[in-house]
Amino acid sequence: MQYHYKFIIFHVFCFIYFGDVDAKRHQRQQSRNSKSELAKVVANDKIRKSEQNKSNIQPDQVTFHQTNTDSSLYIETHQLKKVIPQDIYSTDVTATKSRSIQIRVLLADTPSPAHWSILSESGFWLLDPRNQKRRISVDAASMTLLCHTGSIFINNRRLTRNEVVVKAKEGNVIFDGRTYQGSLYIVSHGEKTLLINCIDLEDYVACVLYSEAWPGWPQEMNKVLAIAIRSYGVAMMRQAADSKRIYHVKNNVAHQVYAGVHGNKLLHDAVLQTGGIIMTYKNKPIIAMYDACCGGIVTARMKGINFTQAPYLARKTSCTSCKTCKIFSWTAEFDKGELTTLLKRHIPKLSRIKSLYVSKKDPAGLVQQVSIKSGQGFVSISGKKMYGLPKIKSFCYTIENTPSKIIFKGRGYGHHVGLCQWGACQMVRDGTDYKRTLHFYYPGVTFMKIVR
Ligand SMILES: [Zn+2]
Repeated sequence: MQYHYKFIIFHVFCFIYFGDVDAKRHQRQQSRNSKSELAKVVANDKIRKSEQNKSNIQPDQVTFHQTNTDSSLYIETHQLKKVIPQDIYSTDVTATKSRSIQIRVLLADTPSPAHWSILSESGFWLLDPRNQKRRISVDAASMTLLCHTGSIFINNRRLTRNEVVVKAKEGNVIFDGRTYQGSLYIVSHGEKTLLINCIDLEDYVACVLYSEAWPGWPQEMNKVLAIAIRSYGVAMMRQAADSKRIYHVKNNVAHQVYAGVHGNKLLHDAVLQTGGIIMTYKNKPIIAMYDACCGGIVTARMKGINFTQAPYLARKTSCTSCKTCKIFSWTAEFDKGELTTLLKRHIPKLSRIKSLYVSKKDPAGLVQQVSIKSGQGFVSISGKKMYGLPKIKSFCYTIENTPSKIIFKGRGYGHHVGLCQWGACQMVRDGTDYKRTLHFYYPGVTFMKIVR
């Protein structure tokens, strides 16, 4: 199973995959889904009961009511428009006062009409994002949202605004089979409706750690990754503010994989023990990219990355720590007919392949271009497109042609940029602490803490 694509700025590609590690992860995913299914069944049962009760939403059209209420309900709505000021970082990483900030994670981005259901056993508050004192109580365990041509309908009744914040009266909300902390911000935006989870940054880091870490890693390695995840998240918050993006991060491999709450105490402890700590470069949070295994590549020699913008990604020393990990090297075999079919997605007129060879590498040894010999002569394809094929796990490989097959032999797993997860894990096992490990993969960074 192919996994993880993780994106980038600086134009490009970049993606994370996990190979032999996929089976376990898949099992974990299955287990998580099973729990979600159970939650769904319980919730559906509640829905049936609650549908017999009257919701206090009035028919046809609903306006937010002005109420005096607990202001803690509105933290999320306050912060929807807030940009993080730069002066909240402190070089004193032992500072005890940390600051709660919220990150906005895009869960769905659907063309009109969008049709969703949200579950909460305790019922909901609907909050007006523009006025913290306006809210509506929904005493039902399920809400149906229909967002169509700029209007939002909740349980078939239209809201007077094209945006709303939904929060469980107690506990978490369930959306699309997954359980989320914080609140959901729903807004009609152009032709689309966005559903955004507003969640405390530390809770977000713990959730992402569950998706991106590997069971059995030393706790020091979980701390390494927690700091990288937090730094990346905060960097995206700033980037979103600069580009006026409504959400900060996507919930998938385009940014960091986020699948809602979990109960793994070890991972929560790793987040707590590194609470608020991020890596910065010239007082700005770094875009802390990471992949599964770098394959020993010296990233400073790579082409296609703007190291002027991100000098902390230009590592000049080869990572040797990942050499012994299972995913360091890989082999991918294709029948010529099979590979022809796959490449036709990019080159529709391609006739049956005769042979392939690497025609261009960058100074780091990463494939930039592959030449294909077919019945019609030669044609080229980019390394990035080749990386998108099944079984091609990195940008570092050689190609062997046999009479019937084409065999790729490669190193590394992912995009080769930033932190090498399995290399970092080995460094930690060899006794290196989380700060020195991160300094190795992100040269020149300073550790800071988000404080009050
Ligand atoms: Zn490595």
